[in-house]
Amino acid sequence: MATKAAKTEKYVYSFGGGKADGNESMKNLLGGKGANLAEMAGHKDLKLPVPPGFTVTTEVCTYFYNHKKTYPKDLEKQVKNALAEVEKLMGKKFGDVKDPLLMSVRSGARRSMPGMMDTVLNIGLNDDTVKGLIAKSGDERFAYDAYRRLVMMYADVVIEKAGGMDPAKGKGIRKIMDERLEEVKKTKGVELDTELSADDLKKLVKEFKQLTKKHLKVEFPENPWDQLMGGIGAVFASWNGKRAIEYRRIERIPDEWGTAVNVQAMVFGNMGEDSCTGVAFTRNPGNGDDHFYGEYLINAQGEDVVAGIRTPAPINETSKNDHSKDLLTLEKFMPKQYKELDEYQLRLEKHYKDMQDIEFTIEKGKLFMLQCRVGKRNGVAAVKMAADMYKEKLIDADTAVMRVGPNQLVELLLPMIDPEEEKKNKPVAKGLPAGPGGAVGRVVFTSEEAVEWGLKGEKVILVREETSPEDVDGMHKSQAILTTKGGMTSHAALVARGWGKCCIVGCSDIEIHEKEKYFVTNTGKKIHEGEWLTLNGTKGVVYEGVLELTNSDLNKNESYKTLMKLVDKAKKLGVRTNADTPKDALQATYFGAEGIGLFRTEHMFYGEGSEKPLFLLRKMIMSTTVKERKAALNDLFKFVKKDIKATLEVMHGNPVTIRLLDPPLHEFVPHDKEKLQELAKELGVRMSVLNRRILALHENNPMLGHRGVRLGVSYPEITEMQARAILEAAGELQKEGKKAYPEIMIPVVMGRHELTHQNNIVEKVYAEVLEKLGLKKIDYLYGTMIETPRAALKGDSMAQVADFFSFGTNDLTQMSFGFSRDDIGGFLPKYLDLKLLPEDPFVSIDQTGVGELVRIGVEKGRSVKPKLKVGICGEHGGDPESVKFCHRLGLNYVSCSPFRVPIARLAAAQAAIEEK
Ligand code: ADP
Ligand code: MG
Ligand code: MG
Repeated sequence: MATKAAKTEKYVYSFGGGKADGNESMKNLLGGKGANLAEMAGHKDLKLPVPPGFTVTTEVCTYFYNHKKTYPKDLEKQVKNALAEVEKLMGKKFGDVKDPLLMSVRSGARRSMPGMMDTVLNIGLNDDTVKGLIAKSGDERFAYDAYRRLVMMYADVVIEKAGGMDPAKGKGIRKIMDERLEEVKKTKGVELDTELSADDLKKLVKEFKQLTKKHLKVEFPENPWDQLMGGIGAVFASWNGKRAIEYRRIERIPDEWGTAVNVQAMVFGNMGEDSCTGVAFTRNPGNGDDHFYGEYLINAQGEDVVAGIRTPAPINETSKNDHSKDLLTLEKFMPKQYKELDEYQLRLEKHYKDMQDIEFTIEKGKLFMLQCRVGKRNGVAAVKMAADMYKEKLIDADTAVMRVGPNQLVELLLPMIDPEEEKKNKPVAKGLPAGPGGAVGRVVFTSEEAVEWGLKGEKVILVREETSPEDVDGMHKSQAILTTKGGMTSHAALVARGWGKCCIVGCSDIEIHEKEKYFVTNTGKKIHEGEWLTLNGTKGVVYEGVLELTNSDLNKNESYKTLMKLVDKAKKLGVRTNADTPKDALQATYFGAEGIGLFRTEHMFYGEGSEKPLFLLRKMIMSTTVKERKAALNDLFKFVKKDIKATLEVMHGNPVTIRLLDPPLHEFVPHDKEKLQELAKELGVRMSVLNRRILALHENNPMLGHRGVRLGVSYPEITEMQARAILEAAGELQKEGKKAYPEIMIPVVMGRHELTHQNNIVEKVYAEVLEKLGLKKIDYLYGTMIETPRAALKGDSMAQVADFFSFGTNDLTQMSFGFSRDDIGGFLPKYLDLKLLPEDPFVSIDQTGVGELVRIGVEKGRSVKPKLKVGICGEHGGDPESVKFCHRLGLNYVSCSPFRVPIARLAAAQAAIEEK
């Protein structure tokens, strides 16, 4: 019996001629580039002049990898049909020797991966079709320029990279060809590619083919169809290239997504002096200003603008910078086409309701749009654009809040060079400001070194002529990037902007001598590898040595204030800070902290002004009788109370969670002999007595030893002293007419009985303080820090005694995994490499493990006390993903270090919006 033929799937989506099979919503299938090409070509509000073409779907990529790198049966036929449509629209035939249609093959994943995947232009040229191109264009030079580019890109991308060939001595075919090109230019006595003659280029084509054969042992394919299919295969293969894998790892893009391939009719920006190619942004991606911003190059093709071969010219006045200020703007050069382009960019931004990054080409006076996508921007620009677009009513409040990545805020809080210091120093070089903020580091000249030094904990600045995707890892590890070539849209600038890293590009004041490991400035100053530099990425200037960095003034940033107002309206989760001093507390309120989630009393025994309290603490520790210990504690009391009172006071009645003494006592005992002798003298005891006591304090595993509540159980008088200090401080403030709201927190608890034991002490002290101060009531809460897995599991019984829980997720992670926080460096990198762990659990909370303990603790606690106040303190409180997780668990607040407070607020708001 005949069965109906299974419906074949659609693998190829066409666009062009005012219509398109796909649209913007089909990013998963068509990739970002393909979906946007379809949208630009086909949407009724846009209908922009996009060269016709088609997209091979991401599903074909998945098929390709699941079927030993082969294609679905029907693919070739669908490609042929789509190609025929393009031929019809262009009025040319692919492979035609009289008037050949040329194609580009471009990759396009769901999310843009700039520079990570490769593009091949001018596909369809060979020794026969090139003659047709010459005849049709009347420009032999142009035709051979296009041809030599094809051979170069094809050998590099399709044959070498996609073929998985390892270049001899790390020198790829592209580099070999580039060097040959430079040689030819030198012997001809010219500087620019555009100055080479048709004959030179013709010879180069021949030589490039020979070089391909010689070095790669493969012939350049003359057959256009083979070129096209080879190109498509290469894009799929490049998905699993080293650079792409590296980028995905950093950006956390899943390996399974795959890429689409876009095949598109070529248009030529290199057809002479009435042609050009450019890159533009609907707003300035460096600072967010609402100005059309971009660069272009006359008589150029493809990546020329980004590659930094020539200094690109500004498209208009507002795009000018120090290097390009004297160059002809596109606005002046081609006013008609500029106006058209300006009209399109406005249309695009209105349509997409976001800043767009645009690629365009003008061929003999005719404008074509080659790409648009949501443009990358740094944090400063992201905040400004979100606030502006909200005010312009282009987007609503929720969208504005979602537009800024929480970590992007870091850039606004970013250190800048201290302006006073900067005035005193003279820059040694100046370049273009590609990534904001200040950075200090030691000079390295290769990406490998940046990685190596970075892993050793060195702060480095990567100095290179230009960067390429191979450098991504090194760039990531550097404090800042400094390049001597390239413009504001060069690879270094794009990548740095994406990460919000300090970056200066096009710094032609310096010349790099990579082999000799130094660079020289235009005043003849030599700076060697390892020497210190300070960069001001906001201004684009370089200083020798180390300049002090300071923090920027948020109060002057109106966009930030607008955005954070929307943030506070949207969020449900409270954000507190971890602060140990009144000064930190004040700093944090400036960042918007709504209380202190963790005040560590032991802080007063470290650093400035700690001598006296530390001595008293040591005296207390070394006491051998309760009487002695009580006397020492009595003296210490004044210090503790003063510290706590000052902190409660600056928080104006916002809650302050005070954790009782946590570290094991021997941490406070001096280690060197001299200090010990001093202490013995001051205490009036013999060294042997002291030594015996120290020996008694020694522990094999102090992290799991005599610390936290265990100290308070062994020495109730320590708890008593602290409770008294806290309650008297609060009571006195109350009497002074001020507000105070302390929360007493017991650390490292494992169950209810410990809590009850300590609570009895606190309640006894409370009654005494009321009587002493003549008060009826002092507001305070009694609660616990949950740091042991057992405590989390016993949440219900603990809630009978505790008014609040605060999850100490640092210790909880340590005890759940059994990973020592201090020794994780020895094995964690391997774990991450092998993907045994998705990420460092001390950075982002392990949601399904440690997070599950938190969930259980909260659920059990609230089953007994429905209104139980629950928060987390610890590093996770400042990690956006962890904050969002806490929102989902229904916590009351997160607490994090002062500088992470704005980030946590934004993450909390986004969590609330995502939930809608
Ligand atoms: P990327 O993802 O690196 O931006 P693209 O696929 O956009 O890669 O292509 C690289 C360069 O080639 C870009 O400058 C683009 O404008 C140019 N290009 C791609 N397709 C065409 C085409 N059909 N005609 C002219 N130039 C093209
Ligand atoms: Mg590319
Ligand atoms: Mg592009």
